[in-house]
Amino acid sequence: MSQTEITRKVVILGSGPAGLTAAIYASRAQLEPIVIDGPQPGGQLTITTDVENYPGFSKGIMGPEMMNEFRAQAERFGTEIINTWIDKIDLSKRPFTLHGKASEDSQEITTIIKAETLIISTGASAKWLGVPGEEPAPEGLGGNGVSACATCDGFFFRGKPVVIVGGGDTAMEEALFLTRFASKVTLMHRRDSFRASKIMQERVFNSEKIEVMWNTGIREIVGTKEEGVTGVKIFNTQSNEESLFPTQGVFVAIGHKPNTDLFKGVLEMDEIGYLKTEGRTMKTNIEGVFACGDAQDSFYRQAITAAGTGCMAAIDAERYLDNLPVPMLSGDEVTIEGEIVTADHEAIIMPDGEVISNHADGEAAPAGD
Ligand code: NAP
Repeated sequence: MSQTEITRKVVILGSGPAGLTAAIYASRAQLEPIVIDGPQPGGQLTITTDVENYPGFSKGIMGPEMMNEFRAQAERFGTEIINTWIDKIDLSKRPFTLHGKASEDSQEITTIIKAETLIISTGASAKWLGVPGEEPAPEGLGGNGVSACATCDGFFFRGKPVVIVGGGDTAMEEALFLTRFASKVTLMHRRDSFRASKIMQERVFNSEKIEVMWNTGIREIVGTKEEGVTGVKIFNTQSNEESLFPTQGVFVAIGHKPNTDLFKGVLEMDEIGYLKTEGRTMKTNIEGVFACGDAQDSFYRQAITAAGTGCMAAIDAERYLDNLPVPMLSGDEVTIEGEIVTADHEAIIMPDGEVISNHADGEAAPAGD
């Protein structure tokens, strides 16, 4: 198969609210960005229902519809969106190189993307409990009664009892959504209070179809290949008492983890994997690489904050490109601030004539003779 090579000033990895907002700003700045769709084009909002807290939509909007609007807006200003699985990156020198394949399992690199700047907006993915029975079929019951997306799979549980695990806003939202289909929804939480917003908790407590089981953990999801899920082995987190709770579906809603494995050992991140950015900017520890959205935000994690940081990353990238040294006929490069990078890159001559070594260790360098 032939290999396609693409070179862009701005390459945006991920197409959720952060990535597409970065694309809107970068394309309106005439930077002709390319957006690389991840395995979940549009990000996490494509698997949610009503979005009621995004300003500008007084009646609310469905998550997938909102992301279609983001996409159309980015494309309107010339953003190109491609779908490729990024397998490998080289951020050791600019232009950065991204190696793309047709799919995760594919062996062959089909697309090489060269990027003057890279904006990482790879978002986050659902976390799993890590208990027996949860693995994807055929090993476990994943996809056969176990799910992390009520919007995607709720329909399959029409008239059936289901269990949902978690105590945050996602668990509340999914539990409420599941009441449309399931005969009964049992919300199991490991503590005796929820961390979800008060309004979502209230809706859950007011639903006749939802029963809350406090101090409840899951040890195992039980069932068969033929029947799917038949129950969950639960335990009381206070007394450790174990019992079998019959159910036909298990929805796991216990939060998310950032999709940043590709950058391990390359970019600075915290112990969970959230990318670190500098001060009030979206700059990572590598010049020309920026991070935004849930890949770098462990605290707010909202669509609106992701979009805000996407905007910031695009502006940071634009300013970075504007300040790159411009090559002169002499072989020197001159920055927008009037600094001269000597042709041998050994020194930088400041506008006031001061000569600064261009070595990381600050060792004296010849003055560009
Ligand atoms: P979250 O707030 O981190 O909540 C995760 C929940 O899962 C917590 O209650 C936690 O229990 C529980 N949990 C974590 N690991 C567990 C484990 N191994 N076993 C059992 N339970 C476990 O995550 P989220 O609900 O996905 O929300 C993430 C962010 O998105 C939040 O800021 C939220 O407000 C926002 N969000 C907003 C909306 C909305 O406004 N419509 C909708 C969805 C999400 P503990 O409480 O004991 O730690």
